[in-house]
Amino acid sequence: MDANQEQISNPYGMDSDCRNCPALCETRSQVVHGYGDVGADFVFVGEAPAEGADRTGHPFTGDAAGETVQDILGALGFSESPPESEEPDLDNVYLTYLTRCRDPDRPPSDEEVLNCEGFLTAEIRMINPEIIVPVGQRPLEELAFEYTTTSPEEFDIERDHATTVRGRGFELVPMVEPEALSAEQRTAFKKTVSELLGRDYRQTKGRRSR
Ligand code: SF4
Repeated sequence: MDANQEQISNPYGMDSDCRNCPALCETRSQVVHGYGDVGADFVFVGEAPAEGADRTGHPFTGDAAGETVQDILGALGFSESPPESEEPDLDNVYLTYLTRCRDPDRPPSDEEVLNCEGFLTAEIRMINPEIIVPVGQRPLEELAFEYTTTSPEEFDIERDHATTVRGRGFELVPMVEPEALSAEQRTAFKKTVSELLGRDYRQTKGRRSR
């Protein structure tokens, strides 16, 4: 593994004491920046850290929902760690959020999503993935607004789950939040991503093969 592929927490050294959202500074345990393979072709984007990630500092870990995501990543060959790992060994995938600080009682406000947008935009620009997985309705709408020509209101996470949506420079593969994922939806998501892995999904940018 070369240095470019090292898996580390907050690999871009983003501000771990960011105070752009005063209310979230009061409720978070820590800022949870992105985590995973900086050379990844797949980037998963959730809305905000859940209870587990707020504690561990690593996205999609430390609770039942995180274990669901880690289990899927393991089945797809993106992780060699057990689902309960709080610091999984990830390959070809990077995990991050729209907002990086947790309020246990409410979703982030539009202003907070906007405050945090620069971190996500920078990660996506630096990683330059082929596939982005919006996890839940809010990330789907935000990423659709940013990276597709379709109006965000036209997307529905239940209907669009495990489909491929052509974006500007990326394909989106929406996923229902892990808390709400049915067994059928899990299977459908793994099937879609397996099919993507089986074809040349890197065709858009001529990325070097690894
Ligand atoms: S949510 Fe984002 S912008 Fe707001 S305080 Fe946390 S890291 Fe900073």
